[in-house]
Amino acid sequence: MRPDALLYPAPEGLYCPEGGFYVDPVRPVERALVTHGHSDHARPGHVNVLATRQTLDIMRLRYGEGFCVSEQAAGFGEDLLVNGVKVSFHPAGHVLGSAQIAIEKNGTRIVVSGDYKRRPDPTCAAYVPVACDVFITEATFGLPVFHHPDPMDEIGKLLASLRQFPERTHLVGAYALGKAQRVIRLLRDAGYSEPIYIHGAMEKLCDYYVGEGIDLGELLPATIESRDKSAFKGAVVIGPSSAFADRWARRFNEPLPAFASGWMMVRQRAKQHGVELPLVISDHCDWPELTETIRELHPAEVWVTHGREEALVRWCQLQGIKAKPLHLVGYEDEAD
Ligand SMILES: [Zn+2]
Repeated sequence: MRPDALLYPAPEGLYCPEGGFYVDPVRPVERALVTHGHSDHARPGHVNVLATRQTLDIMRLRYGEGFCVSEQAAGFGEDLLVNGVKVSFHPAGHVLGSAQIAIEKNGTRIVVSGDYKRRPDPTCAAYVPVACDVFITEATFGLPVFHHPDPMDEIGKLLASLRQFPERTHLVGAYALGKAQRVIRLLRDAGYSEPIYIHGAMEKLCDYYVGEGIDLGELLPATIESRDKSAFKGAVVIGPSSAFADRWARRFNEPLPAFASGWMMVRQRAKQHGVELPLVISDHCDWPELTETIRELHPAEVWVTHGREEALVRWCQLQGIKAKPLHLVGYEDEAD
């Protein structure tokens, strides 16, 4: 079967007409397959949602019980049939519950990787390479200049800053799903055993991670009303970067704004956000990981979704692999 007849971009998202489903649709649809819980991929209002149990749980936490009409959980590696099309979910290593989705019909297999990364991350199942005819990849950091450093070295910078400025409250901006828990886990792995204070927006998801067996150590609410301001001296407070831009942040003792994101490689972005301590910690592949993944899978074709598509398409073509950009809209790269 021709791959572009099995799956193609529609205004709602990637569409499989044989199976009557969309992958990560950006508008409400009858049947949605969802790769992971980030809000640009997992939206409320679909009728049927097929996703991993953890992604379904995360959608429920974020959108409430009525996030869809009916749901079905897919186990990793389990073969399912959707209107005669074989689909299976495989770990993507991006955030808890994140999956790549393999779609197969008449001997043609397409893998939609969603967002993925190859670096070790104890807060989610590790990426598994899935052989395919067509590999659909993101290209958030799809330029040769993007090389992410070792996240442990970045955490080392945070610990060094805490030693250097023992009076200052270190406010670490991090995306609520995935990044916040990863930063906490990295701190623990680096031997940091003090309580870590979390903004209210992080609580439900941190609790959920802990419930799923991810040890995050002692977490306390970063509510200043109930505490003496001095309690936060030299402490680590984790919250959404948006919260650190408003009055909430100014109540802390000499706050030192940090931000954990792959985008912190770009000095201008750090400056724009008023970040004093940029931490380059990404939940996406950098350029070497993207290209190594494609080399390893060696699919007949690569389709590139959101991000910097052109450079990766060109790289594939130079390797003799057919490639094209899909120009999907509605997926942000800011969240990394
Ligand atoms: Zn994501």
